[in-house]
Amino acid sequence: MPYAEVSVNSPVARHQLFSYAIPDGLSIDIGQAVWVPFGDRVLQGIVLELSQHPSVEQTREIIGVINEQRLLSPAQVTLAGWLSNYYLCPLFDAIAPLLPPAFERKTLTFISATAIAESCVLSTLTPPQRQAIELARRSAKVSLKQLERLLGKKRAQTTISQLVARNLITRNYQLEPVRVKPKQELFLSLAIDTDKARQASINLHEKGATRQAALLDFLSRCGSATMAEARKSSRCQADTVKALAGKGLITAVKVEVKRQPIDYKNITATSPPGLTNSQKSVLSAIRESLPQNKAATFLLHGVTGSGKTEIYLQALAEAVKLGKRGIVLVPEISLTPQTIERFASRFRHRVAVIHSHLSLGEQFDQWRQIKNGEFDVVIGARSAVFAPQPDLGLIVIDEEHEWSYKQDISPRYHTRSVAMKLAELAGAVVILGSATPDVESFYHAKRGDYHLLELPRRITPYDGSALPRVELIDMKDELKAGNASIFSRSLKLAIDKAITNKEQVILFFNRRGAATFIQCRNCSLVLQCRRCYTSLNYHSAEDALVCHHCNYKMPVPQACPRCHSRRIKFLGIGTQKLEQEASLSFPQARLLRWDSDAIRGKHSHQEIMDRFRTHKADILIGTQMIAKGLDLPRVTLVGGVSADTGLNLPDFRAGERSFQLLCQVAGRAGRGPLGGRVIIQSFCPQHYAIQAALKHDYASFYNQVIGYRRQLHSPPFPQIVRLTFSHTSDSLCYKETTRMKQMLALEIDATGAVDINLIGPTPAFVHRLRGRFRWQLILRGNETSAFLSRVAIPQGWAVDVDPVGLA
Ligand code: ADP
Ligand code: ZN
Ligand code: ZN
Repeated sequence: MPYAEVSVNSPVARHQLFSYAIPDGLSIDIGQAVWVPFGDRVLQGIVLELSQHPSVEQTREIIGVINEQRLLSPAQVTLAGWLSNYYLCPLFDAIAPLLPPAFERKTLTFISATAIAESCVLSTLTPPQRQAIELARRSAKVSLKQLERLLGKKRAQTTISQLVARNLITRNYQLEPVRVKPKQELFLSLAIDTDKARQASINLHEKGATRQAALLDFLSRCGSATMAEARKSSRCQADTVKALAGKGLITAVKVEVKRQPIDYKNITATSPPGLTNSQKSVLSAIRESLPQNKAATFLLHGVTGSGKTEIYLQALAEAVKLGKRGIVLVPEISLTPQTIERFASRFRHRVAVIHSHLSLGEQFDQWRQIKNGEFDVVIGARSAVFAPQPDLGLIVIDEEHEWSYKQDISPRYHTRSVAMKLAELAGAVVILGSATPDVESFYHAKRGDYHLLELPRRITPYDGSALPRVELIDMKDELKAGNASIFSRSLKLAIDKAITNKEQVILFFNRRGAATFIQCRNCSLVLQCRRCYTSLNYHSAEDALVCHHCNYKMPVPQACPRCHSRRIKFLGIGTQKLEQEASLSFPQARLLRWDSDAIRGKHSHQEIMDRFRTHKADILIGTQMIAKGLDLPRVTLVGGVSADTGLNLPDFRAGERSFQLLCQVAGRAGRGPLGGRVIIQSFCPQHYAIQAALKHDYASFYNQVIGYRRQLHSPPFPQIVRLTFSHTSDSLCYKETTRMKQMLALEIDATGAVDINLIGPTPAFVHRLRGRFRWQLILRGNETSAFLSRVAIPQGWAVDVDPVGLA
C-alpha cells in the first residue's frame, strides 16, 4: 500500500494521525518507527495503519525507517488504539509506554546568523536583538537553550521571531542526541600461538616496548580477555592494543555486552515445594486454562502467607512448559531484591526486571532482550505490563487492589484493565492476587466474569496457623479516663513489654486525610455536609469547611454541634509529631521513621528496610508504605495509631481503603515463631470497615460495601470519569468548570445520553497544587467514556477514566 497513517512524536501532533506517502523501494510495516517531515523539522513517528488512499490531498513522503525491524507488534498497535480510546488520551501518549527506554527524542531548536547579519549595523537593533546577533556571530550554531539563558524564555522567543522576520537569522532543528546505545566491549585474543607470543613478548621487551610486551605476556597466559581486564593486569592502553593488532599479533573485536540488573552469583536455585491441598486445587484450575489460548481471569483471594506467590511460580513454570512466557506485576514498593530473588531462584537466568531505579542502559538492554524472547518471566511494577514479552501466556498482578496500579499522568491507565485487554489480544491468562481484593474485582468474580479461587489459610509458620488477633481500643474511652496521649494505655504497655524483650514494633499511621476534616474528641462526630452526608474538608486558605460534592461552605465551629464540647479539633498529626511523642514516651527505644519525606535517593526504601531487619532500630514508624513487602520475624507488635483517619475522606472508596490497610497491617504481625499482637486505636470503632478488619472478615466487609455502592450509584455500578481543570486563578477555574458543565449538559441532551449525570463543579480534594487551583467535574453513567470520546475536550483539562478515588 502506498500510504501510511503515522502517529507523530510532537506535542502539537499527538492527537491525530497524519498521512504520508511511502517512497518507492521502502518497505514499511504497521508498528514500524519512521522519520517523517513535519513542518520544517524531521520527527519520529510510528506507523499505525497502511492505506490505499491518504486522508488528505497533499502528502509528504516518509524519510526513512528508524529501525529495520518493526518496533510494535500488531497486538501492541491494537492495545495503543484501545488505550487512547478508552482513557481518552492522545494517541502518542498511548504509544509511548510501549516504546523502548529512551527511544523518544525531542527536537532542539538552533539559530544561526545569515550573511546579512554578518554585516548589519548593530545600532539599528534593540538590546536583546543585539545580544542574540552577537552570540550568533560568535558561534556557528546557537541553541535556543543558550539564548533563553541569556534573555529569559519569553524574550528569547520573541527576539528570534523578530530576527527571523528581518532575515538576520535562520532557525533550524535537530533531534536531541541518542541517550543510550548498546554497550560494546573490546575483546582481545592472541592471533598467534602461545610459544610465538612469548617469544614476541621477549623481543618487544628488549626493544623497550614494555607495555606491549606485558599485554602479550598477559594474553599468552589467559588466551583472551576483555579490554577492561587487560587494562587492569597489564596497564595497557588503546594504542598498545592498536600497535599489537597492527603487527598481526593479537585481534581486537568489539562485542556487544548486556547490562544485567540481576546478580545470580548469590542466588541459589530452588525447586518447587509440594503443594498443600488448597494450593493444588487452585493450581489445577489455572493449569486447565493455560493451554486453551483463550483469555481468562482468575481472582486469587488468599490471606497473606497463604501461598499465593508459590501459585504464581508454579503457574509460570506451567506456562513455560507450554512454550509461553509470563509477566509478573507487583506494586513498586514490593519490587525488592527479596521478591526478585524469589522468582530468579526458580527461573535462573530467565528473569528480566523492569524497574525505574535501573540505569537507563540496563533498562534499554532488558527491553531488547525481552523483545528477543530471552526471558521466561518479566517482573516489574505498573509499566512492566507494556513489556514486549513475546508468546505471552500468563500475566500475574499481585496485590491487585493496590492503588499504585493506576497511573496518575496521561495515559491514566489502570494496570488491571490493560492486562485484561492484553490477555484478550494474546489469548493469555490473568491471575489477580490479593488478601483484600478490590471490591470491583470481587464483584466481577461473584458475577462469574472472573474465576474466584480461594486460599483461606496461612501456611506459615505452619499450615493453618491463625491470623493474629486484633485488639481494638476505643480512644474516646481513653479520653474519658483522662489519657490524652496519642498512645492508649494498652498500646503503651505492649510497646514497653516488646522493647524490654528485645522484640520489634511497627507503629502504623495513616496520614491520608489527616488534618483535612474535624472531629469532636468527645462524641466523635465528624462534621458533614447537610446535603451530601460526606465529611466536610478543612481548607486552610479560607479557614473554612468545604463540601467537595456540592461546594457548600461553613466556618469552623467553636463547639461540637451535637454535644457542645469544645474539644473539637483537627485530628491531623504527622509522622514527625508521632516520632516526637514516641521518643518522649519510650526514651529507651531506637526509632526509625519511614514515610515519603524520609525516603530520598535510589536505595533508601531498601536501606530503611535493611536497618530495621538487622535490628538497628526497635520501633519503625511509618505511613501506609510499611504495610507491605516486609517479612520480619522479630516484629511481635503492630500498633495502628490513628488507623481510622482515612475513613472520613470524601470518597466512595474511603472504607475500602481503610479496610485494606488495616488487614495488611494486621498481616505484618506474628509471622515468626514469637507470635504477635495487633492493637488498633480508633475514634469510630463501630465503623464496618474496622469491625470487618478486626475479624479478618472480607466477606462481610464486601457485602456491606457493595450494598452502599449500589445505593449511592458508585462504581462498579456506573462508570465514573473525572475531569479536572487547573489554573493559577481560582475564579477562572470555577468559570471554566461551569462552562464545561453547561457544554456537557447540552451534549447529553443532544445525544440522548440521559443516564449520564454531572456532579460539580467542586474543588478537587487537593484544591491547590504547586500554585495552581484545581476544580473538577464528575461524570457518572454507563457509557461515560464512550460518550466523552465524541466530545471535543478543550486544552487544559485532565481526563481520568475510572479514577481510583476521588480524594
Ligand atoms: P503469599 O504470597 O500468599 O503471601 P507465599 O507464597 O509467600 O504466600 O507463602 C508464604 C510462605 O509459605 C513462604 O515462606 C513460602 O515459601 C511458604 N510456602 C508456600 N507454599 C508452600 C508449600 N506448598 N509448602 C511449603 N511452604 C510453602
Ligand atoms: Zn461532640
Ligand atoms: Zn454537600
